[in-house]
Amino acid sequence: MLIKEIIDKLALEGNCTKEELLYLLDNIADEEKEYLWEKADEVRRKNYDNKVYIRGLIEFTNYCKRDCVYCGIRRSNKKACRYRLTEEEILSCVEAGDKLGYKTFVLQGGEDPYFTDERLEKIIKKIKRKFPQNAITLSIGERTFESYKRLYDAGADRFLLRHETACRELYAELHPGATYENRVKCIEDLKKIGYQVGAGFMVGIPGQTNEDLVKDLIFLKSLQPHMVGIGPFIPHVDTPLGQCQGGAAEKTIIMLALTRLLLPKALLPATTALGSIDKLGREKGIKAGANVVMPNLSPNSVREKYALYNGKLSSGDEAAECRRDIERKINAIGFEIEVGRGDSKV
Ligand code: SAM
Repeated sequence: MLIKEIIDKLALEGNCTKEELLYLLDNIADEEKEYLWEKADEVRRKNYDNKVYIRGLIEFTNYCKRDCVYCGIRRSNKKACRYRLTEEEILSCVEAGDKLGYKTFVLQGGEDPYFTDERLEKIIKKIKRKFPQNAITLSIGERTFESYKRLYDAGADRFLLRHETACRELYAELHPGATYENRVKCIEDLKKIGYQVGAGFMVGIPGQTNEDLVKDLIFLKSLQPHMVGIGPFIPHVDTPLGQCQGGAAEKTIIMLALTRLLLPKALLPATTALGSIDKLGREKGIKAGANVVMPNLSPNSVREKYALYNGKLSSGDEAAECRRDIERKINAIGFEIEVGRGDSKV
């Protein structure tokens, strides 16, 4: 089968076999990449028109009890300069964000035991009391079913928990002390509770093959998440993978486009990581099917400290306060910012 035929089948049926996906990843040529991006754009426009949703990202703690070997805020990185925002600081980010037109706040952090259910419930309820129309997305790692439920009942709407890789062996190598089974159980728990759920993975993590990437796509197709975060792996010098090569922007964009074809209604961010390795990464991601951007709303004083990888952008187009510039750039490539909660159509 020709690669263009596989792409046509994906665009028409939203599915193909794992052999076809692998054949495509192993053999796709430049001209076929352009075709893939065009088809992904077409499918996105059918579902979301030319709208791009914006979310304000608040990175509220970089303390983390996990030791993921790729991550700059892993607990073993003694050079990381740790911080956690106070409740007041989080609330003032939210207020500033609302004024700038952000109607979804993404609260992301390391797995920080300081943020107990009680503390998080209090923060979520305060945000919801002040901004009942706005959505809260949590991205705070693995917790128990009961904990997720309490935070949902307090008012959280969505949860991002990337599965990171659907290859069990690779997952185990990358996440000392953690298991793929529990990661997936957490994602399933979140779905059961009623959250709009985001999964996702890194592209180009050392040891990852095209077979592994196909497993990621098949996993996502069966999970049917509302959102999918896909970004390149980027090394951080103070981690065990610090000297490894990072993932490529083009491969990341291919994975974004394939995800758009497999999950036509998913919300797909053009990630900060993609924008960090390629000046035009965000625009290219949007043209290839991404429809969300998440600029940084954290206080300026902590942005550099949330260093998951080296060279992470937090200014310019990644800074929430540059809302007008972000809008201008998105308009320049033929898209429009959608102001509103931007719920998924899944
Ligand atoms: N602790 C939460 C969790 O586990 O989901 C959220 C924070 S975690 C730092 C957010 C995401 O950052 C992870 O899901 C991972 O995919 C990404 N990340 C971490 N280190 C990275 C790196 N070196 N390169 C690219 N992405 C990275």
